[in-house]
Amino acid sequence: MGYITLLPQVQAFLRRDHAHFIAGQYHCSASTTRLPVVDPSTGETVATIREADEADLQAAVSTAKAAFHGAWADTLPYQRGVILNRFADLLEAHGEELAQIETVCSGKSIHLSRAFEVAQSAVFLRYYAGWATKINGETMSPSIPSVAGERYTAFTRREPVGVVAGIVPWNFSVMIAIWKIASALVTGCTIVIKPSESTPLSLLRVAELAIEAGVPAGALNILNGTGSTGQKLIQHRDIAKVSFTGSVPTGIAVGQMAMGAGLTRATLELGGKNAAALLADVDVEQAVAGLVHTGYVHQGQVCAAPERVYVHRSRLDEVLELIGPALSAIKIGNPLDEAVHFGPLANRAQYDKVLAYFDHAHAHNRVIHGAKAVDRPGYFVEPTAVLADNPDDRLLREETFGPVITFYPFDTEEELLDLINDSPYGLTASVWTNNLSKALRLVPLIEAGTVWINMHTFLDPAVPFGGIKSSGVGREFGSAFIDDYTELKSVMIRY
Ligand code: NAD
Repeated sequence: MGYITLLPQVQAFLRRDHAHFIAGQYHCSASTTRLPVVDPSTGETVATIREADEADLQAAVSTAKAAFHGAWADTLPYQRGVILNRFADLLEAHGEELAQIETVCSGKSIHLSRAFEVAQSAVFLRYYAGWATKINGETMSPSIPSVAGERYTAFTRREPVGVVAGIVPWNFSVMIAIWKIASALVTGCTIVIKPSESTPLSLLRVAELAIEAGVPAGALNILNGTGSTGQKLIQHRDIAKVSFTGSVPTGIAVGQMAMGAGLTRATLELGGKNAAALLADVDVEQAVAGLVHTGYVHQGQVCAAPERVYVHRSRLDEVLELIGPALSAIKIGNPLDEAVHFGPLANRAQYDKVLAYFDHAHAHNRVIHGAKAVDRPGYFVEPTAVLADNPDDRLLREETFGPVITFYPFDTEEELLDLINDSPYGLTASVWTNNLSKALRLVPLIEAGTVWINMHTFLDPAVPFGGIKSSGVGREFGSAFIDDYTELKSVMIRY
């Protein structure tokens, strides 16, 4: 284990003139607006990317529309599954190259890039590939009685919605895009993905692999740019559906824009302020290990991660005694060093936001560990745990999206439920207890799209994922995604 040297193909890739991937190839844009791609472990620019102009936008959507009615419509469901499986194989075959590109641009530890951006992306692709041959309607018997002896029968068809705009954040730039790409392609849709301006490169390489796997030109396109490119994409009249993952304020704006653009379908996977509840009978060692594992992975930049932890007052001291040493043991450093599991925050804006929360913690909370920047170039901060003294503290209410867990004690279950549910967010929650029947009684009372018991942040492609309240609309994974990417057409026959 040591510091890894970038592969020659990664160095060559970083030197390319980056723009978009349209109609099956790297697309040379005429745009002269270049956005910097910054390595967050140094703060230095490693590449630039051209922001999409009007011509790029039109080219991406029109080729996606042509593929929707043409090459991808002509590809049989069985063949779509074969292609997605081949795509997964190619992701793995080029895994080290993709992982290195992603780590340089996002600050994610190389372990995490290999495990999630590559290995998990392949797992999800294969899961979706299995659905290709299983997306069907139903037959039904109409219920109105016949008047003159005639009979009726009816069936439904699942038809792809059309060209999808996928807008993704910077925290898992490959894996989250793969969720959308796979959902779209397996249902017969085509897609234009707009990556985050902070991590725009890895998907350009992923798209090349998709073409090598047999995805026809135009079925998958990558259009790079800032939020304003995303906005124009959503409002394009040939976009039938938006699948957005990002923050709550942007998600609300995206939802309004999509509705305003002719009732364009929108699914929104947004932020969270996820609660973990440690009940009186909790196994404290197991719970603290679980919180450290899930609350600080990728420097806390995980939408589903626990950020507020309510601990039964009788166990609070034990929890706080264990958390400090556990956080001290985390090795902070360059994410290309294989001995490191905690790299920098992903970008300057995120770094400034987390530092402001540290200022708040020093002024208003008891800092148990961290709440400091690390004295080195780049956007490094310490994993942080604080204890709040009132339930309305900002650190118990606002999503930091950083490595900050805030603890707060509770006495009764009624009080616990009030604390958990008094939030505009409803993405995930967890209950830690040795009493399973108590946990199962709490589950229906907790306002969240996913509730875990004795675990947190575990995404499985077979299990639907999404938020309630301000954390979003719609579900990814399982069979739930099919509703969002298809329209149900009813057909009635008289005989
Ligand atoms: P963000 O909302 O700032 O940006 C997300 C994407 O939207 C980016 O590609 C951005 O360029 C684009 N965008 C920005 N303004 C836009 C506009 N007006 N119209 C269209 N597109 C626009 O989010 P971020 O900072 O990149 O990501 C962090 C957020 O994402 C956190 O809140 C996190 O919780 C959330 N997130 C949610 C999930 C989930 O599955 N629920 C997963 C990962 C991240």
